[in-house]
Amino acid sequence: MRRPFPAMRRPLGARQLFGNRPANLPLHERENLVILGCGWGGTELLRNIDHTKYNVTMVSPTNHMLFTSLLASTVSGTLDPRHALTSIRPLCAAKEAKYLQATCETIDPKNKSIRCKTAFEAENEEPHVFDVNYDKLVISVGSTSADFGVAGVRKYCSFMKSVRQGVTIRSDIRRLIEEASHPGHSLEKIKQLLSWVVIGGGPAGTELIGELHDFVEEDVKKIYPEIYPHVQLTLIEGNKVLGMFNDDVQARTISKFRRNKIDVKIERTKEITKDEIILGNGTKLKYALAVWCAGVQPLPFVVNMIRSKTLPLDPRGRAIYVDAALRVKDQDNSIYAMGDCAAIEDNPLAQTAQVAGQQGAYIAKSLNQLHDPDIEPPPFKYQHYGTMAYTGKGDAVIAQSGLNLFGKHANMVWRLVYWSKQASRKNMFQVPMAWWMSRTFGRDLSRF
Ligand SMILES: Cc1cc2nc3c(=O)[nH]c(=O)nc-3n(C[C@H](O)[C@H](O)[C@H](O)COP(=O)(O)OP(=O)(O)OC[C@H]3O[C@@H](n4cnc5c(N)ncnc54)[C@H](O)[C@@H]3O)c2cc1C
Repeated sequence: MRRPFPAMRRPLGARQLFGNRPANLPLHERENLVILGCGWGGTELLRNIDHTKYNVTMVSPTNHMLFTSLLASTVSGTLDPRHALTSIRPLCAAKEAKYLQATCETIDPKNKSIRCKTAFEAENEEPHVFDVNYDKLVISVGSTSADFGVAGVRKYCSFMKSVRQGVTIRSDIRRLIEEASHPGHSLEKIKQLLSWVVIGGGPAGTELIGELHDFVEEDVKKIYPEIYPHVQLTLIEGNKVLGMFNDDVQARTISKFRRNKIDVKIERTKEITKDEIILGNGTKLKYALAVWCAGVQPLPFVVNMIRSKTLPLDPRGRAIYVDAALRVKDQDNSIYAMGDCAAIEDNPLAQTAQVAGQQGAYIAKSLNQLHDPDIEPPPFKYQHYGTMAYTGKGDAVIAQSGLNLFGKHANMVWRLVYWSKQASRKNMFQVPMAWWMSRTFGRDLSRF
Protein backbone atom coordinates (compact mmCIF):
# COMPACT_ATOMS: atom_id res chain seq x y z
CA MET A 1 0.00 0.00 0.00
CA ARG A 2 1.26 3.49 -0.83
CA ARG A 3 1.92 5.62 2.22
CA PRO A 4 1.73 9.40 2.20
CA PHE A 5 5.06 11.18 1.98
CA PRO A 6 6.45 10.88 5.54
CA ALA A 7 7.86 14.40 5.53
CA MET A 8 4.27 15.60 5.58
CA ARG A 9 3.69 14.10 8.99
CA ARG A 10 6.88 14.64 10.99
CA PRO A 11 10.55 15.37 10.45
CA LEU A 12 12.39 12.20 9.57
CA GLY A 13 15.71 10.81 10.65
CA ALA A 14 18.26 9.68 8.07
CA ARG A 15 17.36 6.05 8.60
CA GLN A 16 13.68 6.61 7.86
CA LEU A 17 14.46 8.68 4.83
CA PHE A 18 17.12 6.53 3.28
CA GLY A 19 16.45 3.10 4.73
CA ASN A 20 19.61 1.68 6.22
CA ARG A 21 21.89 3.59 3.95
CA PRO A 22 23.99 6.39 5.42
CA ALA A 23 23.35 9.85 3.98
CA ASN A 24 26.81 10.31 2.50
CA LEU A 25 26.84 7.36 0.15
CA PRO A 26 30.04 6.01 -1.36
CA LEU A 27 30.32 6.95 -5.04
CA HIS A 28 29.56 3.46 -6.35
CA GLU A 29 26.36 3.27 -4.30
CA ARG A 30 24.94 6.55 -5.49
CA GLU A 31 22.30 6.54 -8.16
CA ASN A 32 23.01 8.29 -11.46
CA LEU A 33 20.85 11.35 -11.76
CA VAL A 34 20.80 12.92 -15.21
CA ILE A 35 19.29 16.39 -15.64
CA LEU A 36 18.41 17.58 -19.14
CA GLY A 37 18.60 21.35 -19.43
CA CYS A 38 20.10 24.06 -17.27
CA GLY A 39 17.29 26.61 -17.51
CA TRP A 40 15.06 27.75 -14.67
CA GLY A 41 13.96 24.24 -13.70
CA GLY A 42 17.25 22.35 -14.18
CA THR A 43 19.33 24.95 -12.34
CA GLU A 44 17.00 25.05 -9.35
CA LEU A 45 17.06 21.25 -9.19
CA LEU A 46 20.87 21.20 -9.30
CA ARG A 47 21.08 23.91 -6.65
CA ASN A 48 18.87 21.91 -4.26
CA ILE A 49 19.96 18.33 -4.93
CA ASP A 50 21.89 16.51 -2.23
CA HIS A 51 24.92 15.46 -4.24
CA THR A 52 26.11 13.14 -1.50
CA LYS A 53 23.30 10.83 -2.63
CA TYR A 54 23.58 11.07 -6.40
CA ASN A 55 26.17 11.12 -9.12
CA VAL A 56 24.75 14.07 -11.01
CA THR A 57 25.22 14.69 -14.73
CA MET A 58 23.80 17.75 -16.39
CA VAL A 59 23.30 17.66 -20.16
CA SER A 60 22.52 20.89 -21.95
CA PRO A 61 23.54 22.50 -25.25
CA THR A 62 23.83 25.87 -23.47
CA ASN A 63 26.32 26.01 -20.61
CA HIS A 64 24.56 28.86 -18.84
CA MET A 65 21.30 29.59 -17.13
CA LEU A 66 19.46 32.39 -18.94
CA PHE A 67 17.51 34.81 -16.77
CA THR A 68 14.81 35.15 -19.43
CA SER A 69 12.99 37.94 -17.60
CA LEU A 70 15.93 40.25 -18.36
CA LEU A 71 16.36 39.27 -21.99
CA ALA A 72 14.37 42.27 -23.27
CA SER A 73 16.72 44.59 -21.33
CA THR A 74 19.72 43.05 -23.12
CA VAL A 75 18.06 43.69 -26.50
CA SER A 76 17.59 47.40 -25.82
CA GLY A 77 21.11 47.64 -24.37
CA THR A 78 20.04 48.52 -20.83
CA LEU A 79 21.96 45.39 -19.83
CA ASP A 80 24.82 43.57 -21.45
CA PRO A 81 23.90 40.06 -22.72
CA ARG A 82 26.22 38.47 -20.16
CA HIS A 83 24.27 40.11 -17.33
CA ALA A 84 21.34 37.82 -18.08
CA LEU A 85 23.54 34.71 -18.00
CA THR A 86 25.00 32.61 -15.24
CA SER A 87 27.57 29.99 -16.16
CA ILE A 88 26.44 26.57 -14.97
CA ARG A 89 30.00 25.33 -14.42
CA PRO A 90 30.60 26.81 -10.92
CA LEU A 91 27.34 25.30 -9.66
CA CYS A 92 28.27 21.95 -11.23
CA ALA A 93 31.67 22.15 -9.53
CA ALA A 94 30.04 22.94 -6.17
CA LYS A 95 27.70 19.95 -6.60
CA GLU A 96 30.48 17.68 -7.93
CA ALA A 97 28.27 17.26 -11.00
CA LYS A 98 29.46 16.37 -14.47
CA TYR A 99 28.43 18.80 -17.18
CA LEU A 100 28.13 17.74 -20.83
CA GLN A 101 27.57 20.43 -23.44
CA ALA A 102 25.34 18.32 -25.61
CA THR A 103 21.76 17.85 -26.77
CA CYS A 104 19.76 14.83 -25.74
CA GLU A 105 18.45 13.25 -28.93
CA THR A 106 16.57 10.18 -27.69
CA ILE A 107 15.65 8.38 -24.48
CA ASP A 108 15.71 4.62 -24.10
CA PRO A 109 13.67 3.92 -20.93
CA LYS A 110 14.12 0.13 -21.25
CA ASN A 111 17.90 0.37 -20.93
CA LYS A 112 17.76 3.54 -18.86
CA SER A 113 20.03 5.45 -21.15
CA ILE A 114 19.92 8.59 -23.27
CA ARG A 115 21.64 9.30 -26.57
CA CYS A 116 23.34 12.66 -26.78
CA LYS A 117 24.90 14.68 -29.57
CA THR A 118 27.72 17.07 -28.86
CA ALA A 119 26.60 20.71 -29.13
CA PHE A 120 29.65 21.88 -31.07
CA GLU A 121 29.24 22.40 -34.76
CA ALA A 122 32.35 21.49 -36.72
CA GLU A 123 32.41 21.83 -40.48
CA ASN A 124 32.66 18.58 -42.47
CA GLU A 125 32.63 16.57 -39.29
CA GLU A 126 29.92 14.31 -38.01
CA PRO A 127 28.82 15.39 -34.53
CA HIS A 128 30.05 13.16 -31.75
CA VAL A 129 27.28 10.92 -30.43
CA PHE A 130 27.41 9.16 -27.07
CA ASP A 131 25.17 7.45 -24.52
CA VAL A 132 24.69 8.30 -20.85
CA ASN A 133 23.10 5.88 -18.39
CA TYR A 134 20.72 7.01 -15.70
CA ASP A 135 18.84 5.69 -12.71
CA LYS A 136 16.80 8.86 -12.48
CA LEU A 137 16.26 11.21 -15.40
CA VAL A 138 14.78 14.70 -15.16
CA ILE A 139 13.66 16.36 -18.38
CA SER A 140 13.65 20.14 -18.18
CA VAL A 141 14.37 21.14 -21.76
CA GLY A 142 11.95 24.08 -22.01
CA SER A 143 10.08 24.96 -25.18
CA THR A 144 10.51 26.73 -28.48
CA SER A 145 8.67 29.62 -30.13
CA ALA A 146 5.34 28.72 -31.74
CA ASP A 147 4.30 30.32 -35.04
CA PHE A 148 0.67 29.06 -34.90
CA GLY A 149 0.89 28.33 -38.61
CA VAL A 150 1.08 32.01 -39.58
CA ALA A 151 2.77 32.15 -42.99
CA GLY A 152 6.14 33.87 -43.09
CA VAL A 153 6.82 33.91 -39.33
CA ARG A 154 9.70 31.43 -39.41
CA LYS A 155 11.22 33.09 -42.47
CA TYR A 156 10.97 36.77 -41.64
CA CYS A 157 10.56 37.23 -37.89
CA SER A 158 13.17 37.31 -35.17
CA PHE A 159 12.54 35.32 -32.00
CA MET A 160 13.51 36.18 -28.44
CA LYS A 161 14.03 32.90 -26.60
CA SER A 162 17.81 32.61 -26.31
CA VAL A 163 20.62 35.03 -25.60
CA ARG A 164 21.92 34.50 -29.15
CA GLN A 165 18.57 35.56 -30.57
CA GLY A 166 18.58 38.55 -28.24
CA VAL A 167 22.04 39.58 -29.46
CA THR A 168 20.88 39.25 -33.08
CA ILE A 169 17.88 41.55 -32.50
CA ARG A 170 20.09 44.03 -30.64
CA SER A 171 22.56 44.05 -33.52
CA ASP A 172 19.75 44.35 -36.12
CA ILE A 173 18.36 47.42 -34.35
CA ARG A 174 21.76 49.08 -34.34
CA ARG A 175 22.24 48.21 -38.01
CA LEU A 176 18.86 49.73 -38.87
CA ILE A 177 19.59 53.04 -37.14
CA GLU A 178 23.00 53.26 -38.80
CA GLU A 179 21.51 52.43 -42.19
CA ALA A 180 18.68 54.95 -41.76
CA SER A 181 21.32 57.63 -41.05
CA HIS A 182 22.97 57.12 -44.44
CA PRO A 183 22.48 59.88 -47.01
CA GLY A 184 20.39 59.31 -50.11
CA HIS A 185 17.49 57.35 -48.63
CA SER A 186 13.95 58.47 -49.42
CA LEU A 187 11.75 59.37 -46.43
CA GLU A 188 9.66 56.29 -47.16
CA LYS A 189 12.74 54.07 -46.94
CA ILE A 190 13.91 55.72 -43.69
CA LYS A 191 10.46 55.19 -42.17
CA GLN A 192 10.48 51.55 -43.18
CA LEU A 193 13.97 51.00 -41.72
CA LEU A 194 12.75 52.50 -38.47
CA SER A 195 9.48 50.60 -38.27
CA TRP A 196 9.99 47.98 -35.53
CA VAL A 197 7.18 45.66 -34.63
CA VAL A 198 6.69 43.32 -31.68
CA ILE A 199 4.06 40.64 -32.21
CA GLY A 200 2.59 39.20 -29.02
CA GLY A 201 1.36 41.27 -26.08
CA GLY A 202 2.23 38.89 -23.23
CA PRO A 203 4.82 39.93 -20.61
CA ALA A 204 7.80 39.22 -22.92
CA GLY A 205 6.41 41.27 -25.84
CA THR A 206 5.21 44.06 -23.55
CA GLU A 207 8.57 44.30 -21.83
CA LEU A 208 10.37 44.34 -25.16
CA ILE A 209 8.26 47.19 -26.55
CA GLY A 210 8.72 49.09 -23.25
CA GLU A 211 12.50 48.61 -23.41
CA LEU A 212 12.64 49.62 -27.08
CA HIS A 213 10.65 52.74 -26.26
CA ASP A 214 13.21 53.66 -23.55
CA PHE A 215 16.03 53.07 -25.99
CA VAL A 216 14.43 55.32 -28.63
CA GLU A 217 13.49 58.11 -26.21
CA GLU A 218 16.69 58.13 -24.17
CA ASP A 219 19.38 57.20 -26.68
CA VAL A 220 18.22 57.44 -30.31
CA LYS A 221 16.69 60.86 -29.62
CA LYS A 222 19.99 62.17 -28.26
CA ILE A 223 22.52 60.46 -30.53
CA TYR A 224 20.54 60.27 -33.79
CA PRO A 225 18.30 63.38 -33.64
CA GLU A 226 17.90 63.47 -37.43
CA ILE A 227 16.23 60.07 -37.66
CA TYR A 228 14.53 59.97 -34.24
CA PRO A 229 11.19 61.49 -35.40
CA HIS A 230 10.78 58.67 -37.93
CA VAL A 231 11.05 55.76 -35.51
CA GLN A 232 7.74 53.93 -35.16
CA LEU A 233 7.21 51.19 -32.60
CA THR A 234 4.19 48.92 -33.00
CA LEU A 235 2.79 46.22 -30.73
CA ILE A 236 0.45 43.71 -32.36
CA GLU A 237 -1.68 41.43 -30.20
CA GLY A 238 -4.41 39.12 -31.47
CA ASN A 239 -6.31 38.96 -28.21
CA LYS A 240 -5.46 40.89 -25.04
CA VAL A 241 -2.36 42.86 -24.09
CA LEU A 242 -1.12 41.44 -20.75
CA GLY A 243 -4.02 39.00 -20.77
CA MET A 244 -3.02 37.50 -17.39
CA PHE A 245 -3.67 40.86 -15.68
CA ASN A 246 -7.14 42.29 -15.02
CA ASP A 247 -9.01 44.57 -17.44
CA ASP A 248 -7.93 47.73 -15.65
CA VAL A 249 -4.21 46.90 -15.97
CA GLN A 250 -4.69 45.97 -19.61
CA ALA A 251 -6.51 49.22 -20.42
CA ARG A 252 -3.98 51.37 -18.52
CA THR A 253 -1.05 49.68 -20.25
CA ILE A 254 -2.56 50.17 -23.71
CA SER A 255 -3.38 53.82 -23.09
CA LYS A 256 0.09 54.44 -21.66
CA PHE A 257 1.67 52.88 -24.75
CA ARG A 258 -0.53 54.98 -27.04
CA ARG A 259 0.36 58.15 -25.11
CA ASN A 260 4.00 57.21 -25.69
CA LYS A 261 3.30 56.95 -29.43
CA ILE A 262 3.56 53.18 -29.50
CA ASP A 263 1.01 51.99 -32.03
CA VAL A 264 -0.99 49.19 -30.38
CA LYS A 265 -2.96 47.05 -32.80
CA ILE A 266 -5.40 44.51 -31.38
CA GLU A 267 -5.71 42.30 -34.41
CA ARG A 268 -4.70 38.82 -35.52
CA THR A 269 -1.56 38.54 -37.64
CA LYS A 270 -2.50 36.79 -40.87
CA GLU A 271 0.72 36.70 -42.84
CA ILE A 272 4.21 38.11 -42.86
CA THR A 273 6.03 38.86 -46.08
CA LYS A 274 9.55 40.16 -46.63
CA ASP A 275 8.56 43.76 -45.89
CA GLU A 276 4.91 43.72 -44.84
CA ILE A 277 2.86 42.40 -41.94
CA ILE A 278 -0.69 41.61 -43.05
CA LEU A 279 -3.33 41.68 -40.33
CA GLY A 280 -6.65 39.84 -40.17
CA ASN A 281 -8.57 43.01 -41.07
CA GLY A 282 -6.47 43.48 -44.21
CA THR A 283 -4.21 46.24 -42.82
CA LYS A 284 -0.70 46.08 -44.26
CA LEU A 285 2.18 47.36 -42.21
CA LYS A 286 5.65 48.03 -43.63
CA TYR A 287 8.42 46.93 -41.28
CA ALA A 288 12.14 46.33 -41.07
CA LEU A 289 12.21 44.38 -37.81
CA ALA A 290 9.50 42.06 -36.54
CA VAL A 291 10.02 40.19 -33.27
CA TRP A 292 7.65 37.29 -32.69
CA CYS A 293 6.83 36.86 -28.98
CA ALA A 294 3.48 35.17 -29.46
CA GLY A 295 3.76 31.85 -27.68
CA VAL A 296 5.61 28.58 -27.24
CA GLN A 297 5.37 24.98 -28.35
CA PRO A 298 7.26 21.75 -27.53
CA LEU A 299 10.79 21.30 -28.85
CA PRO A 300 11.36 18.85 -31.74
CA PHE A 301 13.12 16.51 -29.26
CA VAL A 302 9.99 16.33 -27.11
CA VAL A 303 7.72 15.98 -30.15
CA ASN A 304 9.87 13.08 -31.44
CA MET A 305 9.80 11.32 -28.07
CA ILE A 306 6.02 11.69 -27.92
CA ARG A 307 5.52 10.56 -31.52
CA SER A 308 7.65 7.46 -30.93
CA LYS A 309 5.47 6.78 -27.84
CA THR A 310 8.55 6.91 -25.60
CA LEU A 311 6.92 9.70 -23.62
CA PRO A 312 3.18 10.33 -23.15
CA LEU A 313 1.41 13.46 -24.42
CA ASP A 314 -0.93 15.31 -22.09
CA PRO A 315 -4.60 15.26 -23.17
CA ARG A 316 -4.47 18.96 -24.10
CA GLY A 317 -1.71 18.08 -26.57
CA ARG A 318 0.73 20.56 -25.06
CA ALA A 319 3.61 18.75 -23.37
CA ILE A 320 4.91 15.62 -21.62
CA TYR A 321 2.20 14.22 -19.36
CA VAL A 322 3.30 13.93 -15.73
CA ASP A 323 1.57 12.88 -12.53
CA ALA A 324 1.07 15.09 -9.48
CA ALA A 325 4.62 14.28 -8.31
CA LEU A 326 6.03 15.30 -11.74
CA ARG A 327 6.90 11.72 -12.69
CA VAL A 328 6.33 10.95 -16.35
CA LYS A 329 3.11 8.93 -16.67
CA ASP A 330 3.26 5.30 -17.81
CA GLN A 331 6.91 4.97 -16.80
CA ASP A 332 8.52 3.20 -13.85
CA ASN A 333 8.92 6.41 -11.79
CA SER A 334 12.51 6.86 -12.95
CA ILE A 335 11.74 9.75 -15.32
CA TYR A 336 10.54 13.18 -14.25
CA ALA A 337 9.61 16.17 -16.41
CA MET A 338 9.05 19.77 -15.41
CA GLY A 339 8.84 23.36 -16.56
CA ASP A 340 7.73 24.37 -20.03
CA CYS A 341 8.03 20.82 -21.39
CA ALA A 342 5.68 19.20 -18.84
CA ALA A 343 1.95 19.28 -18.15
CA ILE A 344 0.59 17.95 -14.86
CA GLU A 345 -2.44 15.68 -14.78
CA ASP A 346 -5.52 17.69 -13.71
CA ASN A 347 -3.39 20.71 -12.81
CA PRO A 348 -2.55 22.79 -15.88
CA LEU A 349 -0.06 25.52 -15.00
CA ALA A 350 1.29 28.44 -16.99
CA GLN A 351 4.65 27.98 -18.70
CA THR A 352 6.64 30.36 -16.55
CA ALA A 353 9.98 30.60 -14.79
CA GLN A 354 8.17 30.68 -11.46
CA VAL A 355 6.55 27.30 -12.14
CA ALA A 356 9.74 25.72 -13.51
CA GLY A 357 11.86 26.97 -10.59
CA GLN A 358 9.45 25.67 -7.96
CA GLN A 359 9.20 22.34 -9.75
CA GLY A 360 13.00 22.05 -9.83
CA ALA A 361 13.17 22.62 -6.06
CA TYR A 362 10.29 20.17 -5.51
CA ILE A 363 11.93 17.37 -7.55
CA ALA A 364 15.23 17.93 -5.72
CA LYS A 365 13.41 17.57 -2.39
CA SER A 366 11.63 14.43 -3.58
CA LEU A 367 14.85 12.89 -4.85
CA ASN A 368 16.74 13.84 -1.70
CA GLN A 369 14.12 12.07 0.39
CA LEU A 370 12.80 9.35 -1.83
CA HIS A 371 14.67 6.11 -1.73
CA ASP A 372 11.81 3.89 -0.74
CA PRO A 373 9.67 3.14 -3.82
CA ASP A 374 6.65 2.54 -1.57
CA ILE A 375 6.65 6.08 -0.29
CA GLU A 376 4.27 8.26 -2.24
CA PRO A 377 5.45 11.87 -2.45
CA PRO A 378 2.97 14.67 -1.78
CA PRO A 379 1.67 16.35 -4.94
CA PHE A 380 3.51 19.35 -6.28
CA LYS A 381 1.80 22.52 -5.07
CA TYR A 382 2.42 25.71 -6.98
CA GLN A 383 2.67 28.90 -4.98
CA HIS A 384 1.96 31.96 -7.12
CA TYR A 385 3.99 34.97 -6.00
CA GLY A 386 2.50 37.39 -8.50
CA THR A 387 2.93 38.50 -12.09
CA MET A 388 5.10 41.42 -13.15
CA ALA A 389 5.96 43.24 -16.34
CA TYR A 390 8.10 46.28 -17.11
CA THR A 391 6.21 48.65 -19.41
CA GLY A 392 8.86 51.29 -20.12
CA LYS A 393 9.63 54.83 -18.89
CA GLY A 394 10.51 53.48 -15.45
CA ASP A 395 7.04 51.97 -14.95
CA ALA A 396 5.95 48.41 -14.28
CA VAL A 397 2.76 46.54 -13.45
CA ILE A 398 2.42 43.92 -10.75
CA ALA A 399 -0.57 41.75 -9.89
CA GLN A 400 -0.53 39.76 -6.68
CA SER A 401 -3.47 38.23 -4.79
CA GLY A 402 -6.01 40.58 -6.36
CA LEU A 403 -3.84 43.65 -5.75
CA ASN A 404 -2.47 45.66 -8.65
CA LEU A 405 0.49 47.99 -8.46
CA PHE A 406 1.40 50.43 -11.23
CA GLY A 407 4.10 52.86 -12.14
CA LYS A 408 7.32 53.75 -10.34
CA HIS A 409 6.57 51.78 -7.16
CA ALA A 410 5.87 48.68 -9.18
CA ASN A 411 9.11 49.29 -11.06
CA MET A 412 11.05 49.40 -7.76
CA VAL A 413 9.52 46.07 -6.75
CA TRP A 414 10.20 44.62 -10.23
CA ARG A 415 13.87 45.58 -9.92
CA LEU A 416 14.22 44.37 -6.34
CA VAL A 417 12.65 41.01 -7.13
CA TYR A 418 14.80 40.40 -10.21
CA TRP A 419 17.89 41.57 -8.39
CA SER A 420 17.21 39.19 -5.50
CA LYS A 421 16.54 36.29 -7.86
CA GLN A 422 19.90 36.54 -9.64
CA ALA A 423 21.53 33.13 -9.87
CA SER A 424 25.04 34.37 -8.98
CA ARG A 425 26.59 36.96 -6.65
CA LYS A 426 28.47 38.33 -9.65
CA ASN A 427 25.19 39.16 -11.39
CA MET A 428 23.73 40.57 -8.17
CA PHE A 429 26.52 43.10 -8.41
CA GLN A 430 26.58 43.55 -12.19
CA VAL A 431 22.87 43.99 -12.88
CA PRO A 432 22.19 47.04 -10.66
CA MET A 433 25.54 48.50 -11.78
CA ALA A 434 24.43 48.14 -15.42
CA TRP A 435 21.03 49.71 -14.65
CA TRP A 436 22.82 52.69 -13.14
CA MET A 437 25.43 52.87 -15.94
CA SER A 438 22.90 52.90 -18.77
CA ARG A 439 20.86 55.54 -16.93
CA THR A 440 23.92 57.69 -16.37
CA PHE A 441 25.97 57.15 -19.54
CA GLY A 442 23.36 55.88 -21.99
CA ARG A 443 22.98 52.49 -23.59
CA ASP A 444 25.68 50.82 -25.62
CA LEU A 445 25.16 51.50 -29.33
CA SER A 446 27.98 49.40 -30.76
CA ARG A 447 27.23 46.55 -33.13
CA PHE A 448 28.93 43.22 -32.57
C1 LIG B 1 11.85 36.71 -23.19
C2 LIG B 1 11.21 35.89 -22.12
C3 LIG B 1 10.82 36.49 -20.94
C4 LIG B 1 10.21 35.75 -19.95
N1 LIG B 1 9.86 36.37 -18.78
C5 LIG B 1 9.33 35.65 -17.79
C6 LIG B 1 9.02 36.27 -16.54
O1 LIG B 1 9.22 37.47 -16.38
N2 LIG B 1 8.49 35.50 -15.56
C7 LIG B 1 8.27 34.17 -15.73
O2 LIG B 1 7.82 33.51 -14.79
N3 LIG B 1 8.55 33.55 -16.90
C8 LIG B 1 9.08 34.24 -17.92
N4 LIG B 1 9.38 33.64 -19.11
C9 LIG B 1 9.10 32.20 -19.28
C10 LIG B 1 10.23 31.38 -18.66
O3 LIG B 1 11.47 31.83 -19.12
C11 LIG B 1 10.07 29.91 -19.00
O4 LIG B 1 8.81 29.48 -18.60
C12 LIG B 1 11.18 29.12 -18.30
O5 LIG B 1 12.42 29.42 -18.88
C13 LIG B 1 10.93 27.63 -18.36
O6 LIG B 1 11.96 27.00 -17.67
P1 LIG B 1 12.47 25.55 -18.12
O7 LIG B 1 13.47 25.11 -17.12
O8 LIG B 1 11.29 24.69 -18.40
O9 LIG B 1 13.15 25.80 -19.54
P2 LIG B 1 14.29 26.79 -19.95
O10 LIG B 1 14.56 27.80 -18.93
O11 LIG B 1 13.92 27.27 -21.32
O12 LIG B 1 15.57 25.86 -20.07
C14 LIG B 1 15.66 24.82 -21.01
C15 LIG B 1 17.06 24.26 -20.99
O13 LIG B 1 17.07 23.04 -21.72
C16 LIG B 1 18.17 23.02 -22.62
N5 LIG B 1 17.82 22.10 -23.69
C17 LIG B 1 17.04 22.33 -24.77
N6 LIG B 1 16.95 21.20 -25.51
C18 LIG B 1 17.67 20.25 -24.89
C19 LIG B 1 17.96 18.89 -25.16
N7 LIG B 1 17.46 18.25 -26.24
N8 LIG B 1 18.78 18.22 -24.32
C20 LIG B 1 19.29 18.83 -23.21
N9 LIG B 1 19.03 20.12 -22.91
C21 LIG B 1 18.23 20.81 -23.73
C22 LIG B 1 18.32 24.48 -23.00
O14 LIG B 1 19.60 24.74 -23.54
C23 LIG B 1 18.09 25.15 -21.66
O15 LIG B 1 19.26 25.14 -20.89
C24 LIG B 1 9.99 34.36 -20.14
C25 LIG B 1 10.39 33.76 -21.33
C26 LIG B 1 10.99 34.49 -22.31
C27 LIG B 1 11.43 33.82 -23.59
